[in-house]
Amino acid sequence: MTLARGYAALAAKEQLVPFSFERRAPRADDVAIDIKFCGVCHSDIHQARDEWGGATFPMVPGHEIAGVVTAVGAGVTRFKVGDHVGVGCFVDSCTTCGTRHVDLEQYMPGLVQTYNSVEADGVTPTFGGYSDHIVVKEGYVLSIPDNLPLDKAAPLLCAGITLYSPLNHWKAGPGKKVAIIGLGGLGHMGVKIAHAMGAEVTVLSQSLSKQEDGLRFGAASYYATSEKETFKKLAGQFDLIINTVGAAIDWNDYIRLLKIDGAMTLVGVPDAATPPVNAFNLIGARRTLAGSMIGSIKETQEMLDFCGKHNITADIELIDIKAINEAFERVVKSDVRYRFVIDMKSVAA
Ligand code: NAP
Ligand code: ZN
Repeated sequence: MTLARGYAALAAKEQLVPFSFERRAPRADDVAIDIKFCGVCHSDIHQARDEWGGATFPMVPGHEIAGVVTAVGAGVTRFKVGDHVGVGCFVDSCTTCGTRHVDLEQYMPGLVQTYNSVEADGVTPTFGGYSDHIVVKEGYVLSIPDNLPLDKAAPLLCAGITLYSPLNHWKAGPGKKVAIIGLGGLGHMGVKIAHAMGAEVTVLSQSLSKQEDGLRFGAASYYATSEKETFKKLAGQFDLIINTVGAAIDWNDYIRLLKIDGAMTLVGVPDAATPPVNAFNLIGARRTLAGSMIGSIKETQEMLDFCGKHNITADIELIDIKAINEAFERVVKSDVRYRFVIDMKSVAA
């Protein structure tokens, strides 16, 4: 056992505070990782504040982990001390039901999340990346390409894969018009990745205040959803829309922007009930309303290699861990360009 230092929420809606806890000694199939950086995902806030229900405390959030291998178990073959690695939203999964073979393990009930979960033994709580080190089974550790700086690569472990997976599934690429709703942590990764895949990308943001950035990330056009005119002008235009908004917007407005056979995929989790979907908006053009959650380990590695090849990382604001509560408040106000990343050196300071 080793003592880990981090920050935790001790109860829902309380400020995060310094917190020490034990990590297991590496087993034969484990990799021990010195956490250098951890991204701050909006899901960390939803869970630390128990907005989705079922949260367990103390909770050490953090599932956008980037670090360096410090030790490996005797049976580990894919990693060695010094390697740049990442850990995303889960650290174990059901191994008996066969989903590992189809690489959809993120959708199975046996999933063990990186935090706010219990290990396969059913009792040991998992603690996430707002901490100085972590011990993870080899099969759930990702390789971060050497050309990507670890601080800017950390958000790929959740924001990156959450957008890569639906873009990949719905075949974003040359000749496809893709819209991304919300230019936040997830959204800005979506613009960069969809652009690199060759799609024509449009940002649908609440205002034009981040337009310059959106175009720099690779968007061909940028519209304010506060303008009624936007919805008239863009009707029937898109093959794929990815909705990253964590608030209850009216999906009908956006479904009508899809072409015949177009699809809108939800990745954002609304914090309140959304207005009912009018069936005619789907039926009238054989449209699909879909959802998507992170990605498998195989697809996450594929995404990291894709980002390495195209030199894609997040635009970040690096913070001291002591600023985490202020960072949470700023994320809630959509006041972040475009992901907070904790510099884990600060946990010891
Ligand atoms: P974020 O950085 O806060 O970005 C969300 C963006 O949504 C904001 O930047 C803002 O963009 C827009 N927005 C916020 N409030 C809005 C409102 N009331 N109406 C319209 N637009 C609004 O959050 P994130 O980390 O990207 O996460 C987004 C959501 O995805 C969260 O619900 C999170 O829990 C969820 N999530 C899902 C998965 C998955 O696997 N499906 C994975 C990670 C996160 P503009 O300023 O451009 O309008
Ligand atoms: Zn996340």
